[in-house]
Amino acid sequence: MYDVNSKCADEFISHEEILETLAYADENKENTALIDAIIEKAKKRKGLTHREASVLLACPIEEKNQEIYRLAEQIKKDFYGNRIVMFAPLYLSNYCINGCTYCPYHAKNKHIPRKQLTQEEIRREVIALQDMGHKRLALEAGEDPVRNTMDYYLESIKTIYGIKHKNGAIRRVNINIAATTVDNYRLLKEAGIGTYILFQETYHKESYLELHPTGPKHDYNYHTEAMDRAMEGGIDDVGLGVLFGLDKYRYEFAGLLMHAEHLEAAFGVGPHTISVPRLKHADDINPEEFDNGIDDETFLKIIACIRIAVPYTGMIISTRENKSCRERALHLGISQISGGSRTSVGGYYEPEPEDESSEQFDVSDNRTLDEVVRWLMEMDYIPSFCTACYREGRTGDRFMSLCKSGQIQNCCHPNALMTLKEYLMDYASPETRAIGDKLIDREVLNVPNEKVRNVVLENLRLIEQDNRRDFRF
Ligand code: SAM
Repeated sequence: MYDVNSKCADEFISHEEILETLAYADENKENTALIDAIIEKAKKRKGLTHREASVLLACPIEEKNQEIYRLAEQIKKDFYGNRIVMFAPLYLSNYCINGCTYCPYHAKNKHIPRKQLTQEEIRREVIALQDMGHKRLALEAGEDPVRNTMDYYLESIKTIYGIKHKNGAIRRVNINIAATTVDNYRLLKEAGIGTYILFQETYHKESYLELHPTGPKHDYNYHTEAMDRAMEGGIDDVGLGVLFGLDKYRYEFAGLLMHAEHLEAAFGVGPHTISVPRLKHADDINPEEFDNGIDDETFLKIIACIRIAVPYTGMIISTRENKSCRERALHLGISQISGGSRTSVGGYYEPEPEDESSEQFDVSDNRTLDEVVRWLMEMDYIPSFCTACYREGRTGDRFMSLCKSGQIQNCCHPNALMTLKEYLMDYASPETRAIGDKLIDREVLNVPNEKVRNVVLENLRLIEQDNRRDFRF
């Protein structure tokens, strides 16, 4: 039985409720009166239920879809302005005992080079990332309780936060590792992680069991209930995602929103982010062998519908997507992107030879961080290296109340400009710096509060002239 408040995965992600939702969406996908009413509700910026959003996703009417895209773009602007948060993944280990059929790290893959970074190798990777200009990382690892222990993660996080190379620093470490216990989540929280990210892969239980035939990840309920345990362990910024291509996208979309509704109902705070990875070619994985791949148009519609269904939730797109797809996705709702990424273990310090690759998937956007930053600014976006909320304790519902208070323009906007200025001073090419300085001059005028604006102007001067760093509101 469907119960949004239940702590049992089979009840808060009820298969029957998803099937009824999809039937309801099919019946109503051309019901223009209902579609108009849902769009009107979405305009209030309080979100949509999984049923309402599923009707919009199913709607084939071109004119209504254009309205959905326009609204997604407007909501994106209202909540996130033109800021785009930058991050990079850092692969710690590709040892894995699971049998995920779509992932090249699966245990039966005997030819992929297996690596686990030592603390010294982590130092080298982090220095390379700091030298690119990154301030925010997402740690990635396979599941191997003997090699990739909680102690290993805690030590690695400590190492990463401790490295101060030139003006560099990693100021927020997010982590994407296998489902674990409440006690371990508490330890991760105490170690100072930002977001705990775990992709559901698929919400379709039967498919999930087939796609994860062996290993601890086979336990659907343990995996699906991980965010509840993370929240019980004190982590209030959690990141959801499904791997599009594994099962039917409309099923996944409804499941994803039900998961968000469950967290909101049970803990009073929805997911901090939603990621939208699509299945990619990787080592012995051929995406053509999976039946549920989605084209760019469908992918972009999913992004727009997520944007209007959960306006307060950040949305992340990785370098699994190419430049042109990322460009369109940014307009429709994405607020965070990676740049200059390597998906191999140890690949930042020393790129691997092609025939000995430990990569998790092929990267489709191979540009450097400098190129990505410049590209964003040429489209009038502000690349932001801000990590202030988490460091000021504005996580979970405290972050949500900042969003809802309308003070973002006096807080996130200045923080974005000041961290961009740091990037321009320390890491940018001359061409990127010239574009960035002009952008900052224009954008500083958009800080509404005069006092705040004057503080920002002074801080920008201190960053440039006195080599001062790490200002934040
Ligand atoms: N091992 C962790 C777990 O059990 O969830 C997660 C870390 S894994 C390094 C990060 C994510 O990469 C996975 O959750 C999966 O969604 C994604 N991934 C795996 N294989 C992929 C592929 N072939 N193409 C695109 N993404 C993939």
